[in-house]
Amino acid sequence: MAKPPSSLVRRTAWPDSTSRPVVTPLQPSVVYASPDPDALDAQYAGGTGFTYAREGHPNAVVLAQKIDMLEAATGGIITGSGMSAISAALLGILKAGDHVLGADQLYGRSLRLLSQDLPRLGIETSTADPTDAAAMKAALRPNTRMILVEVMSNPTIRVADMEGIAEVARAAGVLLAVDNTFTTPRLYRPFDHGADIVIHSVTKLLAGHSDATLGYVAARDPDLARAINDANVTWGLTPSPFDCWLAERGLHSFDLRFERAQANAAALADALAACKGVRRVIYPTRHDHPDHNRAMGLLGGQGGNMLSFELTGGRAAANALTRAAPEVAFAPTLGDVGTTLSHPASSSHRGLTPEGRAALGISEGFFRVSVGIEEPGLLIEELTRAVAASTGG
Ligand SMILES: *Cc1c(COP(=O)(O)O)cnc(C)c1O
Repeated sequence: MAKPPSSLVRRTAWPDSTSRPVVTPLQPSVVYASPDPDALDAQYAGGTGFTYAREGHPNAVVLAQKIDMLEAATGGIITGSGMSAISAALLGILKAGDHVLGADQLYGRSLRLLSQDLPRLGIETSTADPTDAAAMKAALRPNTRMILVEVMSNPTIRVADMEGIAEVARAAGVLLAVDNTFTTPRLYRPFDHGADIVIHSVTKLLAGHSDATLGYVAARDPDLARAINDANVTWGLTPSPFDCWLAERGLHSFDLRFERAQANAAALADALAACKGVRRVIYPTRHDHPDHNRAMGLLGGQGGNMLSFELTGGRAAANALTRAAPEVAFAPTLGDVGTTLSHPASSSHRGLTPEGRAALGISEGFFRVSVGIEEPGLLIEELTRAVAASTGG
């Protein structure tokens, strides 16, 4: 029997190897041991390396650098979720007395943050229609510090007037923060169009496999970036190494997944539009999209992987549709490799009155589809068959 080490608690040195692993190592260590106090001092004074995982770890850095590359950003950071990326940006920059102008159709929790949580901290908030830059401009206040928008709205896939809003923000000296989750850098790169801050829920298309919850935030101005990073570390919004490792693995195939999902979405949009029982399909490259011309210009002729459609048959048809398509997960997320269906009236928008939903165009027959990378024929056959089942056909 081999002689036991002096103590099982002492960590053995990592075995040397002249060859290197081809895969990014997973580094779960919470703390890093320093050679001596001088070395630790030097490190805190801006040297390289890690001290404590909440303040940074290699797996977060590797992932951040990949997303920086996609967004043409520098110094982006990873956070524990998309919401913590938004929180870090807001908490790092805003102070009591500031005003934030949000788009009126943001992600549900972002709207809640604006309407309930920021006011508790003395930060004023309001919202306006992002498809109308003049309305955004009219909603500015003398103390407006930041505008927060998404390029594509959820679930009605409206496309914001990004050029107009960027001009409004620039002219007013207001920071423009863009949540680029739906569009991804493949459709739109906010820093190329005047944004000051770019935010992602990495949980969605970038990681792509619904097995890691993470966020990303980058700021153009290094002082703002530092403030956001400090908020991330101080408020404890930081990510786990394993999630970062999973997301980096997911990112390797992002371009391929995006291309396939987008092609699937365009084909599915047309197939659904031809179905009896479908009142309308909302997809940016279709001529009947309400912001078609703007979308074509802004998104380079691409439509992305998200579409919405409305059944004529209301809730009964909606129930029949999800039951008739058991292979398509009925789950309120997006960006997974598998297609997912969400029904806003019973999930993301259940808090609104029926009138409030109607004003947004969300009926009981309304579905949002996050199109995945399945074999397209199979996907279209499955969903068109489910639509036929929903009409009793
Ligand atoms: C999901 C989502 C978020 C929140 O991200 P989490 O990772 O779930 O915290 C923020 N914005 C948009 C547009 C999203 O879709």
